[in-house]
Amino acid sequence: MLSKSKYMEDILAAFPGKTLRMFLDLLLHIENAGVTINELKDYLQNLKDIELKKSKEIKRIIKEKDRLWAEKAPKCPDCGEALKIRSLISCKKANLRGWKTHLFCDINSNSVCLYEEFSLTSVEEILRELGIDL
Ligand SMILES: [Zn+2]
Repeated sequence: MLSKSKYMEDILAAFPGKTLRMFLDLLLHIENAGVTINELKDYLQNLKDIELKKSKEIKRIIKEKDRLWAEKAPKCPDCGEALKIRSLISCKKANLRGWKTHLFCDINSNSVCLYEEFSLTSVEEILRELGIDL
């Protein structure tokens, strides 16, 4: 069994330079707040769990939107594939006509199709009109 001073040496070795001072300040701050390390760990784990849950929910919504888009998207008049959609709202410099949305075809299972159209309707409005406003 290692002596306490050996443990302390190991701990100190893990904090090069000024990081030890920061670590000790943090420990003092935690101690002054009356919070235990386990309470802090639990709190951090809880935050991590909430973020993970949010992230999973966002992924689920995106997946559902993609599924609904594939089902309801306007079809390309040239090849019949579902058009892809992207917002142009952040492209103000190169978008003098004020187009809000770019609907376009792309590489699909059959070929490369270059069909595209522009719209003054926003992506959000188009999705809402198609019933894809999750
Ligand atoms: Zn096409």
